[in-house]
Amino acid sequence: MAATPIRTCMSCGQRAPQSALLRIQSDPQGRLAVVDKARRGRSGYLHPTRACIDGLPKARGIRRSLRRGIDRCERERLAEAVADLSLEKTE
Ligand SMILES: [Zn+2]
Repeated sequence: MAATPIRTCMSCGQRAPQSALLRIQSDPQGRLAVVDKARRGRSGYLHPTRACIDGLPKARGIRRSLRRGIDRCERERLAEAVADLSLEKTE
């Protein structure tokens, strides 16, 4: 069995298997988006939970991973993107 890569959540700072986390990256417009594979630039990992999304604006990990912060408006957009993704997975 292959070793599962362990990544650190940008929000809560806890380590988890990569498969349990979402990869977040700034898109070319500079907005945060959920991506399957990192393209150019920096990306970071996040638990797909409301608690970790809500914690992002105060988290230091996001600045370390993405070299940027996140405002409330963008946090809401990200929360919606994660919710959409969860719905797709259960269908
Ligand atoms: Zn987390």
